[in-house]
Amino acid sequence: MRTTPDDAVQPIPLTGTGGIDRCAGYRLDEAWLGAAWSHPSTRVFVVSGGQALIEETADGRTELVLMPSFDAPLTEAHRYFLGADADGVRYFALQKDALPGRMDEAARPAGLREAAPLLSERDNELLVHAVALENWQRLHRFCSRCGERTVIAAAGHIRRCQACGAEHYPRTDPAVIMLVVDEEDRALLGRQLHWPKGRFSTLAGFVEPGESIEQAVVREVAEEVGVVVEEVEYIASQPWPFPSSLMLGFVAHAASSEPVVDGDEIEQARWFSREELRAAMESGEVLAPSGVSIAARLVARWYGKPLVSAPW
Ligand SMILES: [Zn+2]
Repeated sequence: MRTTPDDAVQPIPLTGTGGIDRCAGYRLDEAWLGAAWSHPSTRVFVVSGGQALIEETADGRTELVLMPSFDAPLTEAHRYFLGADADGVRYFALQKDALPGRMDEAARPAGLREAAPLLSERDNELLVHAVALENWQRLHRFCSRCGERTVIAAAGHIRRCQACGAEHYPRTDPAVIMLVVDEEDRALLGRQLHWPKGRFSTLAGFVEPGESIEQAVVREVAEEVGVVVEEVEYIASQPWPFPSSLMLGFVAHAASSEPVVDGDEIEQARWFSREELRAAMESGEVLAPSGVSIAARLVARWYGKPLVSAPW
């Protein structure tokens, strides 16, 4: 039986509809960008080393610390234009070597893993975009064609080589992440060697050159646990800029067979019925994935309800 719970359409954190229009057509328009930057309604945050400042509001929400551009520390910063919301507010991130001093007691630095479960969809969308750009910029300072230095262009979305003229675009590495289920609707969960004791999750791996994502699912499952996938069903995706992945989430339907782990990436794999997983989580034998990862969402979607919280 294939379940499609009602929550299937709920957004995964980091993929939600934060309502930001990226306005990509303006990235090369310096006059437009200059006017957008100077506008009093424009909001800016600093990103540094994958972190930004977040703070709690009086009513208990957590927000990105946003400031008007005239308060923003533009010196020696790279400016990324992230887009505009439905009210016409434009957003920029400034990439700097360090976060600014805390503006008040409540503000604190946080990376995406910590911030994502707390922030609104809009703030998540802004932060994940900025962090992804920062990671790409940091690792692509030299031209892959001629080896000379590249410079930032297109409001953070291009790096241009001044020696040979090559333009380099942000890179995203597709990875597949899949929950394998059998004809009894049991789920196959595995654990990696370096994970905390008891932690089990979905299988995952990078898509290789010249391979479709469906082929990657079949190959990775065969390599990691020796199980033959018969059908691949796409569910959802999630940007995962650590540093530049895009996680493509699947349910992979397989004939039930005893997993044979590769012993390299995966040290143990087991089929779980829902009842077995519930019992194993309750006894503490198994820590299911939680937090904002798409792995947690894929397992919870099959399980039928949110999983017991465990360290991410
Ligand atoms: Zn070059």
